[in-house]
Amino acid sequence: MSKWVRIGVSSLVGLLGIGLAAAPPAAAAPRDEARWAIRDVTVIPADNDEVLRHRTVLIRDGRIARILDAGAVLRPQDGEVVDGRGKYLVPGFVDAHVHLANEGAIRASKDPVLAGLPLDQGHRYDRRILLNLLRAGVTGAANLGGSAASDDNLLWLRDEIAAGRMPGPRLYVGKRINGPRAAVAAKPDGAVPASTVDAPTTAADGIAAVRRARERGYDFIKPYQFLNRETYRAVVEEAQRQGLITTGHLPELGCADCADRAFAFAHPLSNIAHSEELARYARVGSGLAPADIDALAQAVAVSGASVTPTLVTLKTIVAMYVQRAVPAVPGDWAQRVDPVTRREWNPPANRYLSEAFRAQDGADSFSAGYDFARVLTRQLWKRGVPLTVGTDAALPGLAFGVSVQQEMIELREIGLSPVEVLRAASINAHRLFDPERGRGAVREGERADLVLLDADPLADIHNVARVAGVFVRGQWWPQTRIEAALAEDAAFERGLAERLAPQAE
Ligand SMILES: [Zn+2]
Repeated sequence: MSKWVRIGVSSLVGLLGIGLAAAPPAAAAPRDEARWAIRDVTVIPADNDEVLRHRTVLIRDGRIARILDAGAVLRPQDGEVVDGRGKYLVPGFVDAHVHLANEGAIRASKDPVLAGLPLDQGHRYDRRILLNLLRAGVTGAANLGGSAASDDNLLWLRDEIAAGRMPGPRLYVGKRINGPRAAVAAKPDGAVPASTVDAPTTAADGIAAVRRARERGYDFIKPYQFLNRETYRAVVEEAQRQGLITTGHLPELGCADCADRAFAFAHPLSNIAHSEELARYARVGSGLAPADIDALAQAVAVSGASVTPTLVTLKTIVAMYVQRAVPAVPGDWAQRVDPVTRREWNPPANRYLSEAFRAQDGADSFSAGYDFARVLTRQLWKRGVPLTVGTDAALPGLAFGVSVQQEMIELREIGLSPVEVLRAASINAHRLFDPERGRGAVREGERADLVLLDADPLADIHNVARVAGVFVRGQWWPQTRIEAALAEDAAFERGLAERLAPQAE
């Protein structure tokens, strides 16, 4: 931690040259007082279809202070100037469904090779994951549940990032609440384990689980698939009473034949974690019922829930099933996949490449499932259901950061306009996870969580990959600064990779 503070300040001064004559010494200034002026940039606010050309954007105390005409005269106290000519300023991207690799999960791993890795006190492993998210323009990430050790570490990281002691996107940490599979999948005479707060099968234990998560400081609740109806309903209602949003799976996944749409929509989640979840309600037997799709989309719209389609997740699973290999990661991101995650992608850890995965019932309908999820997501969009951008990274093939850009392209391909894609990746996620702290648009008074792009995303959504730098909590992180910070820990990561290399090599 102290190491980070020292390096953060020195690179601010060294790389970016703040500390002009009129400004106080950088080392003495609180970090949230950094000021920046992005001169002559094209602003895409994303809350409507407006495009504001030739503007100068002043960033102060973590917020967008002013949006001026590009001709406005800048004063020294307006801060360091960032040249925005030919560039595009858009809201920072939010991964609304991610499972972050982190040191808590590694330390608690049952795999002795992982548990024995030489991690250090500086959280350099975590820092690299977080920096790579920034590198992709991701300034917010919602973690949809992990082990207790993983969650504890992420709650700590969330607070370190918020305090400016660790670089990274804003984290929203979700508590997964799940029942025992047997509670919904047991045969009539099968034994159901006794209810506990950790695996509730009663309303009382479901309520206790939500209250415990609230006390522990979680940001939201992820109801998971093996909750029985009584418990599911109690969890959703208690979360609402506690002011926590819910994003997760619909009930009764363990009971595909008796899934009850009316029940789910009578007790709606704030957000549904996958379009695939909804697809269960529109499948008849092993086939699909396209005529029912619009009624389903309409029911979601009426319930008020938003949806995180995670289309790229299904696409990647289908690719692994068809190709018997992990699909290529775009651009130069393959080298960015950390060695622990890479190990999980390779056999034997990658279950999607296993015989057992291919042999399961219904495996031959995976491709149709992806197609159906796209059709359904398109109908959700037509019915005005707010969509968010989520990835389920680091599912094999989905690297942290760049997978957000891949999902944005998926949403463009099913019909969303480029600005609607930007909105899904930003404003819709803010409305879900952080509604009290602004809207997430590029407007005066909003938080300065922004991406500066080298090319126009409205002309081609693939340009969301052309990231010149990000503002996160009002701090400017050009790619040069991100790369410099990553380079500091490259030897550390090589050391981990060597420990994880197959012995035969
Ligand atoms: Zn997930």
